[in-house]
Amino acid sequence: MSKIEWTEKTWNCITGCDRFSAGCIHCYAALMSRRLKAMGQEKYANGFELTTHEDQIEKPLEWKKTKRIFVNSMSDTFHEDVPEEFIYRIFDTMNRADWHQFQVLTKRSERLLALDSDLNWEENIWMGVTVERANYIDRIDHLRATGAHTKFLSLEPLLGPMPDLNLDGIDWVIVGGESGPGARSMREEWALAIRDQCMDKGVAFFFKQWGGFNKKKNGRLLEGRTWDEYPGQLSSDISGDAYEYINCLTSEEKSMLLKGVPQDQLSQMLRNANLL
Ligand code: SF4
Repeated sequence: MSKIEWTEKTWNCITGCDRFSAGCIHCYAALMSRRLKAMGQEKYANGFELTTHEDQIEKPLEWKKTKRIFVNSMSDTFHEDVPEEFIYRIFDTMNRADWHQFQVLTKRSERLLALDSDLNWEENIWMGVTVERANYIDRIDHLRATGAHTKFLSLEPLLGPMPDLNLDGIDWVIVGGESGPGARSMREEWALAIRDQCMDKGVAFFFKQWGGFNKKKNGRLLEGRTWDEYPGQLSSDISGDAYEYINCLTSEEKSMLLKGVPQDQLSQMLRNANLL
């Protein structure tokens, strides 16, 4: 089981990486890899040096129960030192293990796009790019140009505002603040503006955490609720206007909505508020 809120399991057939952009400064994988090396974990004998693990390449085929799997949480699948052949084999495993959902996330979107035409995108592969600041939004265009059926953005650690996201072709957006010692803070208005853009475009929105030094204490409520939407699974099918209305509901009514009230009951509530 993974502790990462938006996945269920991790599959690390690659470990180690190199810092690539601003979001990497406090890389959790770097810290953990060095710790695991110090603990004598064989898999991390090279610490945070990029290492491919042949013995792990077909691991998901052994997991019979359906899982949502984050691929290479301790590295970046499209790191320049990962041999192309190894990337094709990762995709081969994902294509064969079609009872799982795989979540691949990269900051190296140019390499992703360069290899795209040689990758086989079965529907169980979700492809994402990390965009921690507006100056990296080109990564979204690279992702959009790939053949992945489900495309997502990880805006984490969110380091600045993103008021003009182009969400065409994007199915899912994750927002989170940085956590741990020295964490750079995320402003509420940045997160809210992204959520509103997602709602306007009908894109699933997942609010992972506020982060900070004590991530547990800061929690993951945004405007008083959790946002745990997934591609194709919005909390409800509601417009931006309806959202304004929902903000005025009592907590009991809100909780009914979040549990998914039947469509006719929701329609009645919206009619009562002259929104339909
Ligand atoms: S790309 Fe990811 S794994 Fe690699 S250094 Fe940056 S944060 Fe760490």
